[in-house]
Amino acid sequence: MFEHLKEQPKDKILALMQAYKDDPRDDKIDLGVGVYKNPQGVTPIMRAVKEAERRWWDEETTKAYTGLAGDPAFSDAMIGLVLGDAVARDHVAAVATPGGTGAVRQAFDLIHMANPQARVFVSDPTWPNHLSILKHLGIETVSYRYFDSETGGVDFDGMMADLAGLRAGDVVLLHGCCHNPTGANLTGPEWQAVIALMNDIGALPMIDIAYQGFGDGLEADAAATRAVASGCPEVLIAASCSKNFGIYRERTGILMAVAQDKGMHAVTQGNLAYLNRQNYSFPPDHGARLVSVVLHSDDLRADWQAELEEVRNGMLALREQLSTELRKLTNSDRYGFIAQHRGMFSRLGLSPETVERLRKDHGIYMVGDSRINIAGLNKDTVPKLAQAIVEVGA
Ligand code: PMP
Repeated sequence: MFEHLKEQPKDKILALMQAYKDDPRDDKIDLGVGVYKNPQGVTPIMRAVKEAERRWWDEETTKAYTGLAGDPAFSDAMIGLVLGDAVARDHVAAVATPGGTGAVRQAFDLIHMANPQARVFVSDPTWPNHLSILKHLGIETVSYRYFDSETGGVDFDGMMADLAGLRAGDVVLLHGCCHNPTGANLTGPEWQAVIALMNDIGALPMIDIAYQGFGDGLEADAAATRAVASGCPEVLIAASCSKNFGIYRERTGILMAVAQDKGMHAVTQGNLAYLNRQNYSFPPDHGARLVSVVLHSDDLRADWQAELEEVRNGMLALREQLSTELRKLTNSDRYGFIAQHRGMFSRLGLSPETVERLRKDHGIYMVGDSRINIAGLNKDTVPKLAQAIVEVGA
């Protein structure tokens, strides 16, 4: 049977990680994989998470299964974190999932189950895993213009023109904040225009929010998701705890289905739990428990927020520094967008050949589409990157 299997395309980012590892140069710089790193190049365990682990170790008395939806205290805490008081709790169905990816996958499954004709509109570009999961599930995708490589901002007119092609029942996948891979985000009024368009047509928004707290702060980063949740009749929200709690390998995420019609709650909750059961039964608990302990303890929550702010401000400082260096070296504001972008990534708008030269000649590793992980830099490597960009003639 296995002879019928076809080789799967290699994951480009994982291949890049390997190439970086194999590079013997001492001054190589890794701006590839999407993991936060501190100035020492370490992905730390956050203080509050470590302490939550200690406390939970003392308290935990059993490893028996949780519920299919995971621990309700986790859902409550995450719904509060993401949605604030934008919608009443009894309008939100939710299940814990293995990472944000698990939530994305379950959301697509639910869409396909509810409406096999639904097409999913995705930004060009988007996180590549969105496209590969949609393809795997046989869901038709339509891409909408998003990134303007001339300005480094959002091509909002192009986006709206493409979204005008939506049909009732189609789904629009939107990044709640800190767009991956571009770093370019919609403004508040632009979000309102998208909400109005989706409502006019009868399209359903799906929000993927994987970097809350990495952009303008926990509350500001959730503002768009909250506006959609309170402004549209129905919305699916896939949230990841990997980045903002630094618990990547614990596989912690949540899928929420919000409906203005409270009567939908029982059926959506039942379907989310059903999908967990079909795909992996009970979701992993450890990471979700740590999140729940942190968010439900005043002291740990305050410490977590403080550390997250340090992380966010560190990335903002690197953005400012890189954009200033490039302004000095190019005598232009061509790379000013780097300081405007938010989150862990920026797409620089370099050609694949230039990206390749940066790797070969300077040991600087970035994704082929010129996405850099800002957190892969520190204040000493920023000038090196700026110099190299100018040297390769970008
Ligand atoms: N959505 C987006 C846009 C992401 O960038 C990521 C992480 N790379 C995820 C979802 C999911 O992350 P995880 O499964 O590790 O929680």
